[in-house]
Amino acid sequence: ARVLDAAGTDDERVVEAALRPRRLAEFPGQPRVRDQLGLVLEAARRRGSPPDHVLLSGPPGLGKTTLAMIVAAELERPIRVTSGPAIQHAGDLAAVLSSLDEGEVLFLDEIHRMSRSAEEMLYLAMEDFRVDVIVGKGPGATAIPLELPPFTVVGATTRAGLLPAPLRDRFGFTGHLDFYDVADLVTILRRSAGLLGVEADGAGVAEVAGRSRGTPRIANRLLRRVRDWAQVHGEGVVDARAARAALALFDVDEAGLDRLDRAVLEALCRRFGGGPVGLSTLAVAVGEEADTVETVAEPYLVREGYVLRTPRGRAATAAAWRHLGLAVPRETAQ
Ligand code: ADP
Repeated sequence: ARVLDAAGTDDERVVEAALRPRRLAEFPGQPRVRDQLGLVLEAARRRGSPPDHVLLSGPPGLGKTTLAMIVAAELERPIRVTSGPAIQHAGDLAAVLSSLDEGEVLFLDEIHRMSRSAEEMLYLAMEDFRVDVIVGKGPGATAIPLELPPFTVVGATTRAGLLPAPLRDRFGFTGHLDFYDVADLVTILRRSAGLLGVEADGAGVAEVAGRSRGTPRIANRLLRRVRDWAQVHGEGVVDARAARAALALFDVDEAGLDRLDRAVLEALCRRFGGGPVGLSTLAVAVGEEADTVETVAEPYLVREGYVLRTPRGRAATAAAWRHLGLAVPRETAQ
């Protein structure tokens, strides 16, 4: 697994759970979503009824699961956690829905990956707090309506555009999470260092924050690697020296690019004169599958303005040449 992968791994679950902020007031960053969600939850609390259903969208590792847990904590209700891929049949969903308690929060991660039949059942349940349980098979099958107590769905998706409109419309509140700026990541890292019981100074934390691709999950993971280095080779303190050495060991450069990202830029600039060059040709040049280059390296390179996607292929921008310490050819896009 890449140290810069924004998706979490199974063995990170425990440490991630320990690092999650528990209440809205201790959740750094995403000020708009925080304020909007805070209002929705406070109003619901005062009314004494469940809030609108909440949809959280945005790239992995930005805090969607964390916010779902916070919704339940702020409402002082239990939370049931499941995910789109775990609900392949409408029956799986019916089983979950029919066992919910009044006011419970149902967290559906990767909600865009639910089956069509489950989706239809879900949006009826969200609107009318009712499911039709089908009993029997074939012509003799009958639908028995089952009343549900009011509950709140918190859906999370990396691809809001993939949700069918009828489902999307059942969410009264949608929050879009965006990448964090360095100052917010510094706040998150200080808090995480405290929870991990490791001393961290300002320069060390800033060094990690600047290389974390705007993503708290990556920031926390890099912090743990720097802590490891500090414990083995240093004085146990996350400082600039430990951060630089550990991140060099894991091939993460000052801009938060790793070996694959740099290989793509090197190939683009040195082998193909800056492009444009087709994705498959580029992939062969770096010795990777086209799919890996497209889904693992490219999104961040494009977002940070190192690479352009053009109709004729991928092209390096001036920032890419500069990052490699090369002279920028004339007529290169900025
Ligand atoms: P997502 O569900 O969007 O993939 P998570 O909520 O699982 O992301 O967050 C991944 C990790 O990053 C968790 O360990 C969590 O504690 C941390 N994290 C995410 N957002 C924040 C934040 N705003 N403040 C502190 N930690 C955060």
